Amino acid sequence: MKLKESISLIPVGPVEQTILEYIQQKLSTILNTEVFIRPMHILPSGIFDTRRNQYDIRAVLKLLHDFEDTSGYKIGYINEDCYEDGSEYVLGESVLKGEELVIALPRLNLIDGNTDRTIFLNRVLKETLHELGHSLGLLHCPHGYCVMHNSATLHRKEVDLANPYCGRCEELLIQSDSTF
Ligand SMILES: [Zn+2]
Ligand SMILES: [Zn+2]
Repeated sequence: MKLKESISLIPVGPVEQTILEYIQQKLSTILNTEVFIRPMHILPSGIFDTRRNQYDIRAVLKLLHDFEDTSGYKIGYINEDCYEDGSEYVLGESVLKGEELVIALPRLNLIDGNTDRTIFLNRVLKETLHELGHSLGLLHCPHGYCVMHNSATLHRKEVDLANPYCGRCEELLIQSDSTF
């Protein structure tokens, strides 16, 4: 698998460098493309919802969209709890065939009460691959072992990180104009 475009990892507000470095290393191997870590983007207080005590993830996506310094896919990481209208919380957000996506980190660390570091990092990776799949035009997949399966609560436990997309999804990625 080879992604044509490069990927930029953009911390939106403070994010541990080791998380970004882990994702950089894994994504560049899985997708066979260049992955850069960009400087921190300031998190504006205006997009914090004081009533919900959460950030509006759509507003974070818009921030990335307006971030002109970089080409290719822009993946924002935010270490704050996020929501979108109609959901109590969200773990990640993307736009179908869009270039920007956001991963919200705090709940990925808490789910199942398991705070093992490797499990957490792999959840961040799976969430990133899932949202990136949407960016590349993929919808949800019926196969439980595919990273595009809609199973946020199960945390995509069965996904093989060496082959995160099932054969059908990988085929769709290969056919997609903007991609492989
Ligand atoms: Zn999804
Ligand atoms: Zn699939």
